Amino acid sequence: MYKNAFMQQSEENKDISALDIDNFSEILNTQVNTIDLLIGELHIGVYIFNSQGEFLYSNIIIQTLTGYSEQELKKMKFFDLVYTDDKDFVRERGFSKIKDGNGAVSYDFRLISKTETIIYVRIAANRIFIDNQPVVIGFAFDITDQKQTKEELEQSRTNLMEETVFLTELIVASPEAIVVTDKNDIVNRINPAFTELYGYTLDEVQGKNLNQLITKNQEFVQATDISKEIIKGNKVNLESIRYRKDGTPVLVSILGAPVYINNEIVAVYGIYRDISERVNTQNELLQSQKELSLLMKNMPGMIYKCLNDEFWTMKYVSSGCKLLTDYESSDLINNNNISYKTIIKKEDITVVRSTIDDAIINHTPWEVTYRIRTKNNTTKWVREVGHCVANEAGDVQYLEGFISDYTAEYKAFEYKKTLFKISDATIQTTSPQQLYNRIHTLLADIIDTKNLVIALYIKETDNIRLAYIADEKDSFNEFPAGKTLTGYLIHSGKSLLTNEESISQLYEEGKIDMVGSPCESWLGVPLKIEDETIGAIVVQSYDKNSIYTDEDQQLLEFVSEHLALAIQRINYEDNILKQKEKAEESDKLKSSFLANMSHEIRSPMNAILGFTELLRDSDPEPESAKEYMNIVINRSKDLMGLIDEIIDLSKMDAGIFKLNESNIFVNDLLHELHAFYQIEKKKREKTELDIRISLPANTDNLQIFTDVSRINQVINNMVLNAMKFTHNGHIEIGYSIQDDQLLFYIEDTGIGIPYDKQAVIFERFRQVDESHTREYQGTGLGLSIAKTILEKMNGKIWVKSTPGLGSTFYFTLPISSSNTAVVENKKSTIVSEQKNISHKWDDKLILVAEDDHTNYRYLETLLRLKKVKSIVAEDGQKAVDIVRKNKGISLILMDVRMPNMDGLEATRQIRSEGYTMPIIAQTANAMSDDRELANDAGCDDYLPKPIKKDQLYKLLEKYL
Ligand code: ADP
Repeated sequence: MYKNAFMQQSEENKDISALDIDNFSEILNTQVNTIDLLIGELHIGVYIFNSQGEFLYSNIIIQTLTGYSEQELKKMKFFDLVYTDDKDFVRERGFSKIKDGNGAVSYDFRLISKTETIIYVRIAANRIFIDNQPVVIGFAFDITDQKQTKEELEQSRTNLMEETVFLTELIVASPEAIVVTDKNDIVNRINPAFTELYGYTLDEVQGKNLNQLITKNQEFVQATDISKEIIKGNKVNLESIRYRKDGTPVLVSILGAPVYINNEIVAVYGIYRDISERVNTQNELLQSQKELSLLMKNMPGMIYKCLNDEFWTMKYVSSGCKLLTDYESSDLINNNNISYKTIIKKEDITVVRSTIDDAIINHTPWEVTYRIRTKNNTTKWVREVGHCVANEAGDVQYLEGFISDYTAEYKAFEYKKTLFKISDATIQTTSPQQLYNRIHTLLADIIDTKNLVIALYIKETDNIRLAYIADEKDSFNEFPAGKTLTGYLIHSGKSLLTNEESISQLYEEGKIDMVGSPCESWLGVPLKIEDETIGAIVVQSYDKNSIYTDEDQQLLEFVSEHLALAIQRINYEDNILKQKEKAEESDKLKSSFLANMSHEIRSPMNAILGFTELLRDSDPEPESAKEYMNIVINRSKDLMGLIDEIIDLSKMDAGIFKLNESNIFVNDLLHELHAFYQIEKKKREKTELDIRISLPANTDNLQIFTDVSRINQVINNMVLNAMKFTHNGHIEIGYSIQDDQLLFYIEDTGIGIPYDKQAVIFERFRQVDESHTREYQGTGLGLSIAKTILEKMNGKIWVKSTPGLGSTFYFTLPISSSNTAVVENKKSTIVSEQKNISHKWDDKLILVAEDDHTNYRYLETLLRLKKVKSIVAEDGQKAVDIVRKNKGISLILMDVRMPNMDGLEATRQIRSEGYTMPIIAQTANAMSDDRELANDAGCDDYLPKPIKKDQLYKLLEKYL
């Protein structure tokens, strides 16, 4: 390519190539030498080439420059030396010069030396004619150095420009606010971030004092000082407040530094970064760190890091350690005073160890619950969650985790479990003893029950019976509730959680007596069924003070509720069982009753019939006749008594049993009865018996509002029983005034009652001896009737008896302020009335309304004995008629049941006609409520049939 081009050129310069070489060389040499001489030491390369470009001449400078010798050059063409990229342009210039010769040309190009280095040359060439031959003579200067310097300069200029652009870009794009000021803080330039941070545009700040723009007061002083520092050549780095254009402060980090040019400070730059957020975040972080450390401090547990060695040597424990274990963290760290293993309860170490070991093997965290013993010697349940930290090789480095106090939860959990079991037991168990045992076992798991008592309260006797007792020191069976602590609890009906000190206080206040061994902790809760305290559950400790808590109290209350229900249930089931047994027994009793009845009826009937026949048929001596008649009368009375009892029972069963209450003087009643018993004992041939009454002082005026005949019946039953079962000694009748009731007693020194029979004798037909061969007569009804009567009166009846020594029957009658009155001027008593009988009745006429002639005869005889006249009316109508006709009738004895018109109707009629004489109803109808009906009809009083002589006379005394 090169050759062809050159050849092309050769064509164009034909004339030069046709030079006569030898001749030409000579001329050339001459001329060149001249030039060389001219140039001398100027270090300029000189060369000549012909129209083919072939070197004709080159001086030593050219040879040095190109690295070729003169000979070598002569074989070369000028263009062989030109650097490829420059060839076209050099050729163009070179040939055009040869052709045209239009003056000198000068230009630069690159030359390739023999060693292939590029050399920059500047040539100046012109066409000259030597020997008429056009040749080109050129002068070449090595401008490589010059060129390089220029290039470097240009490069550095370009670099500078690039750098400037880059820096500008950087400054513009920088998120940090940048400002450049002169040494006097006058702003030269700012970047957009500055505008963004402070709100100032370039126009607003350029040429102004920076510190005046973005500082105030003390910051201004500070900023001025900083500027001075920077101008001294120091870099400044600080955090401070600066102000935005709108006056709002902003917390910034500031970097200020001088700008040097040629070691001289020409400007100052400042870089600002808004750090409010960072500071906020830092503050928040700091705050949350504080909170975290506070939390850790206050956390009711401890964080630990320990070795997995035998002692679990602690390397770190948080301050919660103190609260949990009572030890300081420093006690535990490195086993300084104690190792953690020593704190764990011995029995629990194995489970802790195996749990942790298993977790380590399985690469899982662990959770384990166990007990520790604190420095203060209390046992706590703790829950530990932890994990092991291993290195890359899998070796355990240490264990870390969190241990918290689990006592409350554990207790609550255990409580729940126990409560569930107890409630289950109360449902499942059928025998109270079994239930008490089970409750004791279950409670022992959660509270100290070394001493546990389940007490049942016997209200009647105010006694406490220990149904269950587990006690280290004392052993009781039954004792008076009195002022014992358990009694105090039962009487108050409220739980009592106390300790030795408080117990002593109760004692000093006189609320309790010290009974049994003194204890240090005591907790009792009442057993209640529908608000009635039936007993108590008590736990106590003789050696540990105040060990029971409110929670324990709640627990026991729960237990007591369930136990009470269970007792109720068991009682209920027991009752059903008993009722079943009773029903079976009652069957037996019925037959035995019938046998008894038949005996009780037959024996008096035999006597009555036997002796009346004797009276009728054997015409006995007056002495014997009187004796026979007495027997007949007494046996008839026995029969009447039996019939009365049976009728009472029927009334009670039919629900028509009512009380007729009135105010009575208690002492008078007892005096009257006492007099009666003196007579009775003679009749019964018990004259040895001392029958006495014992009355409280100052009670002569004491009245109660009650049914006197029923009270008579109750006392009679008990006293006559006492007579029956007492052969020598005494019978004492008395009473005392309790808070709101009278407590009567009938004490005897008789045969007594076996303990197992003391309850059953109050049941119908029940007797101590229920055999057919029994020694004592009786129906077994008296006490059950007495019990029903007293219950009707809101009273109670019970017995205390020692077999062989005697019995005391008690009964209570409530007194209320309304029915108790102390009357100043007491009426004369019945007894005194009896004593002062002095009647004058011979002028009195009594109408006896009675359809039964025998009955009339009986009454008529009784009246005649008192010298009272009488007339008879056979029915009600006749009675009314007689009253209308006969104005002198003083009193009417009105039979209730009569033909035509009954007594009640007749009474109504008589009263309606305005007659006011006393009318006394007489009836044998024991079942109906005669007294009330008679009152309603207008009768003044009532006389039950069979009419007793004394009763009749009493009424006559009252009304005539
Ligand atoms: P009764 O006397 O007619 O048999 P009660 O109901 O009055 O019927 O008495 C029931 C039983 O109680 C008597 O049979 C007797 O066994 C016993 N009892 C009652 N009072 C006494 C007493 N004072 N001493 C001993 N036993 C008594």
